[in-house]
Amino acid sequence: MISLVVPVHNEEPVLSLLLDRIRSASQAWGEDHELVFVDDGSTDRSLAILMDAAERDSRIRVIKLSRNFGHQAAITAGIQLATGDAVVTLDADLQDPPEEIPRLLEKWREGYQVVYGIRTGREESLPKRAAYAMFYRALHSISDVEIPLDSGDFCLLDRKVVDALNVLPERVRFVRGLRAYVGFKQTGVAYKRAARAAGTPSYTFRGLIELAIDGLFGFSMVPLRLASYLGFVIAIPSFLAGLYFIIHRLFNFPVFGHRATETPGLAALAVGLFFLGGLILIILGIIGEYLGRIYIEVKHRPPYIVDFVHSAGNRPDSATR
Ligand code: UDP
Ligand code: MG
Repeated sequence: MISLVVPVHNEEPVLSLLLDRIRSASQAWGEDHELVFVDDGSTDRSLAILMDAAERDSRIRVIKLSRNFGHQAAITAGIQLATGDAVVTLDADLQDPPEEIPRLLEKWREGYQVVYGIRTGREESLPKRAAYAMFYRALHSISDVEIPLDSGDFCLLDRKVVDALNVLPERVRFVRGLRAYVGFKQTGVAYKRAARAAGTPSYTFRGLIELAIDGLFGFSMVPLRLASYLGFVIAIPSFLAGLYFIIHRLFNFPVFGHRATETPGLAALAVGLFFLGGLILIILGIIGEYLGRIYIEVKHRPPYIVDFVHSAGNRPDSATR
């Protein structure tokens, strides 16, 4: 049996189309399936539509989170509550076409335990595409684990991988990074990422930046090391310059026609001071970023809270984790 995990945040305009597309695509899967919808604190009619669908189809389960916890937390909830032998995560807006799932299944049957989609094209604006391209390349070059280029959350996970992910204790979940971290036999399948079928994206520009920061800081210590590198780059030339000025002053020989006493150097001093001040603030910010992450992790708050789980024949019950 395979589980489809779909995080949903205010997707009312697209849900019936999504259910139709999944229903017709599922004919090609050759496996039993369950649909796990995670309602991530929607404020529109998404939850009602999903509950209604669950009443009519016993394969549908709806997990309502107690508020909006964010895309990655919603996926985490879905993965933790899915029961399939393989779990496929996909976005509700049909950017990850359900018609591609047979290709993921094929690789799974060949023995791969993680099959992720690699986006060969995106139907999105040029600046957004450029930003994505830059982010994935930066992440690729500095992260401790091998996070494949242009792979998003659309993927198939074998039960073993799901179990491994579920015991990872961290609260900040950058799912595609954790997926790379757990290892196992992984492969990619190229697909074209469609434009959103209907509705508007929930991710704001800020949300995307935060996701990018979670990826960069959650999977790399390179930014921390940057402080030492910069320190050396600035300190060594400064030291040499200092030596030079001392000798200049002591022996008072003319340099470029100036003697030491005639060189006030105020501007150089001020510029140097501000430059260093700025650098120190940036480095402090980077240290703060890691400190904040430590703070979040030590609080041990759950990444999400479940209000109820609903499926046909199952009265809504409350559960928290
Ligand atoms: N989503 C979510 N919680 C959020 C934001 C988004 O569950 O706080 C879901 C959303 O319903 C969709 C998926 O995550 O299924 C991707 O969101 P979106 O399409 O807004 O992001 P983008 O495609 O721009 O990355
Ligand atoms: Mg989308």
